Amino acid sequence: MLRTEGYAVTSAESKFAPFAFERRELEPKDVLIEIMFCGVCHSDIHQARNEWDNSSYPMVPGHEIVGRIKQTGAGVTKFKTGDFAGVGCFVDSCRTCDNCRQGAEQFCQVHAVMTYNGTEMDQQTPTFGGYSSQIVVAEAYALKIREQENLAAVAPLLCAGITTYSPLKRFNVRAGQKVGIVGLGGLGHMGVKLAVSMGAEVTVFSTSPSKEADARKLGAHNFVVTKNPENLAPLAGAFNFILDTVSAPHDLNPYLNLLALNGAMVIVGIPTTPAEVAAFSLVTNNRILAGSGIGGIPETQEMLDYCFENKIFSEVEIIPIQKIEEAFERTLKADVRYRFVIDMASL
Ligand code: NAP
Ligand code: ZN
Ligand code: ZN
Repeated sequence: MLRTEGYAVTSAESKFAPFAFERRELEPKDVLIEIMFCGVCHSDIHQARNEWDNSSYPMVPGHEIVGRIKQTGAGVTKFKTGDFAGVGCFVDSCRTCDNCRQGAEQFCQVHAVMTYNGTEMDQQTPTFGGYSSQIVVAEAYALKIREQENLAAVAPLLCAGITTYSPLKRFNVRAGQKVGIVGLGGLGHMGVKLAVSMGAEVTVFSTSPSKEADARKLGAHNFVVTKNPENLAPLAGAFNFILDTVSAPHDLNPYLNLLALNGAMVIVGIPTTPAEVAAFSLVTNNRILAGSGIGGIPETQEMLDYCFENKIFSEVEIIPIQKIEEAFERTLKADVRYRFVIDMASL
């Protein structure tokens, strides 16, 4: 077994502390990745604190992983030692069900192996994530990363990038369209960059007036402070597509009312309590309300290649692992500009 250092929480209330555990020895199709950077997703906070009521402990979070291939199994063809590689939110699935065959392995009908707070295909062995020194993963579930000066800024693409890219592609967001992004955090800032790159006119809806200058630097054309509901009224019926990335409970209806004829709003944020939707908010203008969950391996690789070609990376604040508690607190206060990324050399 491969002894691995990490940081874990041991209960919903506990603080992070160093934690040593074992990774499996490499099977023929496995790679061993030395983790260089790992992004801090709000889902890490939801799960570390058991806000989705599905947490097991000890938990080593982290699913925005980039690093270097340290070792390859005898049958590996996609990577060689020294290559850069990424790992996102899941590390295995059955590979044969309808969803897996369609490249939607995150929704495997048998068992999707989440990168952490999950179990391997045996549905028993716990998985541990990227707040750690190394990870063993089947090559089919690792992503190819091109060499890049700032690898830290690549890590958030593995979750925040794919989670925003996938719905923008599915709803064919394009030039001439008006797009709203609700919440300017880790997901939201990637949503702005990606929607702008697809040619849309982008409006950010934010509770934080202090983020307006940043939003414009990211390419947003308009910025609306949502604390004052009067600011939304003049925009009724104006948007083709809205992406809701908010992590906390909030009213969806004022945003649905902004959708134009056949407009769609996609929920990617996962607050802990259900939202009420008024039928009139949907019936009017034949509106669509949809959800979206990360993305499968083929689309994640497509997104990475798209981001490298278009030089779209995350705005990051690099932290040592010892500052993880502070990063959680600041993220909860919406004080993240715009993704904390852990430099694993600090471990
Ligand atoms: P984040 O960096 O904390 O960003 C969330 C943003 O939402 C905040 O920066 C803030 O933006 C806004 N916000 C926070 N509290 C709010 C409130 N009470 N009312 C209105 N707006 C509020 O989080 P993230 O990492 O982007 O993740 C966002 C959500 O997506 C989380 O729930 C996460 O679990 C979920 N997620 C889902 C998927 C998926 O596959 N669907 C993937 C990854 C993450 P402003 O300051 O601009 O208002
Ligand atoms: Zn995530
Ligand atoms: Zn499957």
